[in-house]
Amino acid sequence: MRPRVWQLARELGLRGRVRNDAEGVLIEAWGEAGRLEALVARLRVEAPPLAHIETIERRPLTAGVPPADFTIVASAAGHSATDVSPDAATCPACLAEIRDPADRRHGYPFTNCTHCGPRLSILRAIPYDRANTSMAVFPMCPRCRAEYDDPADRRFHAQPNACPDCGPRIWLEAADGTRMAEENAAAVLDRAAALIRAGKILAIKGIGGIHLACNAADPEAVAELRRRKRRDHKPFALMARDLAMIARHARLEADAEAVLTSPAAPIVILEAAGEALAPGISPGQNTLGFMLPYSPLHHLLMARLEAPIVLTSGNVSDAPQCIGNDEAREHLAGIADALLLHDREILVRLDDSVLRPAAGRVRMLRRARGYAPAPLPLPAGLNKAPAVLALGAELKSTFCLAGGGRAILSPHLGDLEHAATLREYRAMLDHYLALFEFTPEVVAVDRHPDYHSTRLGQEWAAGAGLPLVMVQHHHAHLAATLAEHGVPLDSPPVLGLILDGLGLGEDGSLWGGELLLGNYRQYRRLAGFDPVPLPGGMRAMREPWRNAFAHLERAFGDTDLRARFGDLAILDLLETRPLRNLRIMLDRGLNSPPASSAGRLFDAVAAVLGICPESVSHEGQAAMCLEALAASAMGEAQAVYPVRLEGERIRWRPLWEALLADCAAGCEAALVAARFHRSLAEGLAVISRRLAAAHGCDTVALGGGVFQNRLLLEGVFAALADSDLCLLAPERVPANDGGLALGQAAIAAAQSRSSSGT
Ligand code: ZN
Ligand code: ZN
Ligand code: FE
Repeated sequence: MRPRVWQLARELGLRGRVRNDAEGVLIEAWGEAGRLEALVARLRVEAPPLAHIETIERRPLTAGVPPADFTIVASAAGHSATDVSPDAATCPACLAEIRDPADRRHGYPFTNCTHCGPRLSILRAIPYDRANTSMAVFPMCPRCRAEYDDPADRRFHAQPNACPDCGPRIWLEAADGTRMAEENAAAVLDRAAALIRAGKILAIKGIGGIHLACNAADPEAVAELRRRKRRDHKPFALMARDLAMIARHARLEADAEAVLTSPAAPIVILEAAGEALAPGISPGQNTLGFMLPYSPLHHLLMARLEAPIVLTSGNVSDAPQCIGNDEAREHLAGIADALLLHDREILVRLDDSVLRPAAGRVRMLRRARGYAPAPLPLPAGLNKAPAVLALGAELKSTFCLAGGGRAILSPHLGDLEHAATLREYRAMLDHYLALFEFTPEVVAVDRHPDYHSTRLGQEWAAGAGLPLVMVQHHHAHLAATLAEHGVPLDSPPVLGLILDGLGLGEDGSLWGGELLLGNYRQYRRLAGFDPVPLPGGMRAMREPWRNAFAHLERAFGDTDLRARFGDLAILDLLETRPLRNLRIMLDRGLNSPPASSAGRLFDAVAAVLGICPESVSHEGQAAMCLEALAASAMGEAQAVYPVRLEGERIRWRPLWEALLADCAAGCEAALVAARFHRSLAEGLAVISRRLAAAHGCDTVALGGGVFQNRLLLEGVFAALADSDLCLLAPERVPANDGGLALGQAAIAAAQSRSSSGT
């Protein structure tokens, strides 16, 4: 911000100074009234690309003598609210330089400026200046230094500023560690591109981590990568050279283009269309996750290739992505044929962020590179609350630091059941607390006693003598949606429609499909899905047939389903299972906890339709495949399966009767899947509308991981479009447990005493 203020002030002939202080940017300016007005007006429209002006406050200067000139005041020690920003994709000016043969940065993979480049990923400590980044080991050459010192230059105070004379370098290594002897960056990139073209697998060190790459148009290379990575089903992300290349393989919606080309440059999930890529990229899906090059290295590599590349995180199965060169040599040498590395250290691991267009917005599914650590404003009424550290959930974990009117959500960290992820979570927590000089006054955790995050929070609160707030999982989902939409503290309760996998309920049972009435301070459960046992406990998460079995048992009891519906494939499958023992388990409640889970209902329907009934490799897999199957038939499907509230429970027998009758009548699986989506969306919308009216709510807030399902979300929006209800859905924060920490923080802040009466 400061150089732009300086430039504008000079142009307008103003005198004064500009500095960063703890709250933002402080400008002292003297000059004619009209010119001062012009400064404010132009600041709003001519702010630099990465700047985001929240407010401009003005007051007359009553003391002090105007200086002779306009100057930039160096930052004092201590940090400022404007200090740490997210990593930003290469800006057009830098891109033009690396493409210009006459420019001194032609072909240079680490070109950046104040408008672009690495930020959080290279940050060791605050304040954000070069000595505190992994660029500290590269002393600037005189030309770079001159740019850095010149307020009129695009690289004024660009901390990662570098050029081929003084900055980081790339090189290629064979899997055995032998360094390949290319003499310059262009030769290294030529060789890397040739390897990809030849069907090889390459590890590529980027901004927030090391990826594995191969030619996405080469089915054998993709299959080999999947085999070596031992990643069974999760879709691989893709990088394309430009929008035109994406448009060859996917349907590009206009709002998706804007997100793809934004400085955050995330992965956007698009509908596959046109020229097919390797089938192993996203098995069972009708979508492809694309991103555009976001560092000069990616731009220079993609310029040499004719097809998109797979660019998936460099790790084995579910371990965290590698960030260090030695780590990559150790863990990726068995997967990659060669490693494209560099000597700029990555200090903060940042996965690629993932968004998906749904119901008129491009919505966050995984929030990391390009978004973290940008703060989210806390809703009105919570800005004076004590500082809250909220620790999130177990899967898709993130934590949140809330205080001073803003919430800083950590990047996506992954599933804490993996020891390496848990270590990373602890390290990131320490890093964030130091970076933001954050001292928690309250700790918020999930009610589930076995989440690693809960235990960590309990230890923390006990050790520091801080109050611990235990937040019910689905209340936190509701509050996350309210908080990101800025619903103020003392707003009347809203109706929350939360569709989720599993979370521990108030009564000690597992919840997941809930209709809540609440706000930040309190909630109550108005209604919910009928609880259905999870036979085998957590094994039911991995084996969808178990949920089909439990749902059919619950709906039909002793009914002979074969007599009723004929020879359904699911009945054949179930007969191969130890049903006698399973029934005994259910009868006696042994290792089969009842759960009102929405996620498991999707698993059960998927299994009945023959979608990965035996086993899945990740929690959402069956539901994702069910959605993909349904997508092709949504146009012809009506909501014909009854979804009804009986008392306080939505019981599933009517839906199963109609659905199995369709199957028995030979109805195509895609149509059944589409009817299921429509019926659930419309049924839940009708129930929500009725409950909202009964309790005088004008707002329905959606939340929970099941709302990552585009068909379901759009179905609920469509079904409520003609109502007067205000519908809030997760957008900048994931609907899944990745957004939970924000909700926990808002609830703990609201319940803490000093937030009242402000
Ligand atoms: Zn730039
Ligand atoms: Zn230089
Ligand atoms: Fe959840």
